[in-house]
Amino acid sequence: MSDINLHTQICFIGLGSNLNEPISQVLTALDELASHPDISLIARSPLYRSAPVGPAGQPDYINAAAKVETLLTPLDLLEELQAIEQKHQRIREQHWGPRTLDLDLLLYGNITLDTEKLTIPHPYLTERNFVLRPLADLDEELSLPDGRKIIQCLADCPMGSLVQLSL
Ligand code: ATP
Ligand code: CA
Ligand code: CA
Repeated sequence: MSDINLHTQICFIGLGSNLNEPISQVLTALDELASHPDISLIARSPLYRSAPVGPAGQPDYINAAAKVETLLTPLDLLEELQAIEQKHQRIREQHWGPRTLDLDLLLYGNITLDTEKLTIPHPYLTERNFVLRPLADLDEELSLPDGRKIIQCLADCPMGSLVQLSL
């Protein structure tokens, strides 16, 4: 028997879109996560409509979060997420500017990581109610690697406008 011990990890992914029919961008991205050979989609949050952060005058965002299980390493998972973004013809014009699809790796198991390409937990997670709310929907017991509860972060987070959609 092999002594290689393969561990799947539970990860949370943030989805966002504010261009080209954002609701269907997000729903299609969820389907793409579900059908990815190396990613199992366990659950997804409801969709939310949020007011944009960053440059003014952009359309509202549609946001959601997904709970997945994978054997991929953090960097490989990020690469797969970026490949899905590319399928949605994401063009990176302006930092925090409008986009067809943004997939952020919010949490990867209980690890913390700070490299040039990848920071986990996602660096702005605790500042964004459009990320914290769907995370709490997926698991109200969820904690950050440092032990802070997501629901407490949500209670402490400045409240941007956030409307839950029936999707
Ligand atoms: P924000 O990071 O504020 O949500 P953004 O999503 O608009 O902004 P992007 O242009 O999508 O930023 O990403 C810029 C870079 O951030 C990516 O190329 C990636 O290497 C890096 N990055 C670092 N940590 C993460 C993470 N946890 N999830 C996704 N990308 C990350
Ligand atoms: Ca983002
Ligand atoms: Ca991103």
